[in-house]
Amino acid sequence: MNQPMPVTDTPNTSAAADPQAPVVIVGNGPAGMAAARALLARRPAAHVVIYGAEPHRPYNRVRLSSVLAGDVAWDGLTDHLIVPSEARVEQRLGYSVVAVDHQQHRVIDAAGNSQRYSKLILATGSHPHVPGISGIDLPGVYTFRNRDDAEALAARRVRSHHTVVLGGGLLGLEAARGMQRNGTRVTVVEHADRLMSSQLDLGASQTLASHLAELGI
Ligand SMILES: Cc1cc2nc3c(=O)[nH]c(=O)nc-3n(C[C@H](O)[C@H](O)[C@H](O)COP(=O)(O)OP(=O)(O)OC[C@H]3O[C@@H](n4cnc5c(N)ncnc54)[C@H](O)[C@@H]3O)c2cc1C
Repeated sequence: MNQPMPVTDTPNTSAAADPQAPVVIVGNGPAGMAAARALLARRPAAHVVIYGAEPHRPYNRVRLSSVLAGDVAWDGLTDHLIVPSEARVEQRLGYSVVAVDHQQHRVIDAAGNSQRYSKLILATGSHPHVPGISGIDLPGVYTFRNRDDAEALAARRVRSHHTVVLGGGLLGLEAARGMQRNGTRVTVVEHADRLMSSQLDLGASQTLASHLAELGI
């Protein structure tokens, strides 16, 4: 999970929430965008401010593997928000919220800007778990979580002869398949006794492993 944002309490200076202030949504992943859609469906004249730490337009993270595999172009992932004509929606891309002052009903972004809110929705998602093993911070080691990661991996794949994927869960296997383009050799390393150990029993996992071996993984 993300580190919690600091919540600032300023004693004796508590202000009432301004009902005219916008609803602020922090995070423009699937959850944040679904919250915005649900809000606009109920209140078509709502004022909404959506923060996204990534500099890109909202996209469907679940389909990142399809982009890495070359099956879908980036445009196919864009998460469009249909905004009713009476609504005011501001999408602040590349703005990370770093603090919440709930006494003053405002959030602060990384550039120091302050934004009042009437209601605040935190939809900040999660971070990849990176094991604390030696060498993990060396160049050539990547995570697979966001658009920047996928672009870096696709660029690396062009000159990589052998890619090792740590983690034989669903995401690891999707990444392995994606990295195989251009004939790169791919090896998956899994510390449990089988692939997709959360989903599959030993027999099913062995069938999957044979299928992957046939694909050259
Ligand atoms: C390649 C891939 C495939 C996946 N496939 C599936 C799948 O098939 N099914 C499934 O259920 N799940 C899948 N997942 C898990 C997937 O991440 C979640 O289901 C989904 O993205 C969760 O949506 P979310 O909006 O809660 O969080 P996220 O998608 O993580 O979005 C949160 C957003 O908030 C932004 N943010 C975080 N902190 C701040 C801040 N302080 N200020 C501003 N913005 C901030 C982040 O930059 C991010 O864009 C997949 C994940 C990956 C990486």
